[in-house]
Amino acid sequence: MLKVANLTAGYGDIVAVRDFSFAIEKGKILALLGPNGAGKSTTLMALAGLVGCTSGTITVEGVDISALPAQKRIRHGLTIVPEGRRVFPDLSVKENLIVGGYTVARGLGEEGIGRVFEYFPRLGERSRQLAGSLSGGEQQMLAIGRALISQPKLLLVDELSLGLMPKVIDECYAVLGTLRAQGLAIVLVDQHAERALEVADTICVLEAGNPTWQGSAQSARADEKLVGALLGYE
Ligand code: ATP
Repeated sequence: MLKVANLTAGYGDIVAVRDFSFAIEKGKILALLGPNGAGKSTTLMALAGLVGCTSGTITVEGVDISALPAQKRIRHGLTIVPEGRRVFPDLSVKENLIVGGYTVARGLGEEGIGRVFEYFPRLGERSRQLAGSLSGGEQQMLAIGRALISQPKLLLVDELSLGLMPKVIDECYAVLGTLRAQGLAIVLVDQHAERALEVADTICVLEAGNPTWQGSAQSARADEKLVGALLGYE
């Protein structure tokens, strides 16, 4: 579904990710782990078209999207849930969701909004509340819900559990599990490596912009030294 080959990306002269290659199939979760500043967010932003790549190719279902601007990548089924949620605070929950469908003709409209409320009943109960007055967890649910309105095939989720209560983290991960079962591919960055290790199918580790480990989550979990290092980054 997604193939990334030799991705190098950064900011001006700063190279934040170097020569990173990985792939993810439909219905799988890939977790990108590593210490602060490793280049995890940059990788997601580069996939979404929000940070420039200096080299490498990004292919979605066989189509090279590397040169496309962010809004066109959404049309190829790739949507990002950015770090810090970035909901529109002065719009209601429902209005935030409507905005999520704005860039794609096949945005789901009312039906899609209803589906988001099925995933996150708490949002349905607060549909007219201003997003800025939601709790952090509810804002994260809204950010995920807003991304789902464009009917992505590939969801990029940055710092899923940052600052959230364990119960809310469980709810968000449960929804990701449901989406995976429905065939979505998910690339996930989470500072809480423990949870990501449990849930993911594949793990990629970045350190100071360099890919240092890649393999199945099962093999990652069996590697005590690796697990120790990853938990130490939390
Ligand atoms: P964290 O877990 O702390 O969010 P990360 O693994 O997501 O870290 P990135 O945010 O991708 O790491 O940052 C990778 C490198 O790129 C860091 O050295 C960072 O300082 C640098 N960087 C990130 N954003 C910018 C920017 N807008 N301009 C310049 N350098 C940046």
